[in-house]
Amino acid sequence: MPVLLILGLIAFFVLSWWWHRSRSLTRDCKWREDRSRAAPGRSFHHCVACRAETDLPIGEQPRHCLRQQ
Ligand SMILES: [Zn+2]
Repeated sequence: MPVLLILGLIAFFVLSWWWHRSRSLTRDCKWREDRSRAAPGRSFHHCVACRAETDLPIGEQPRHCLRQQ
């Protein structure tokens, strides 16, 4: 019986670690600049993680995921 308990605890920790990891991974945006879609004087960025799109003044980088907004 204690073996089952230990196995259950290990499974619980592995699952919670995996859940936390997958959540924190999807929270991060991976912005890519797309110069072909940028308007003059702007820089266009799209996120490969959540497909958010934004355009900013040239030289600026988006820092946050736009999916929550
Ligand atoms: Zn994103």
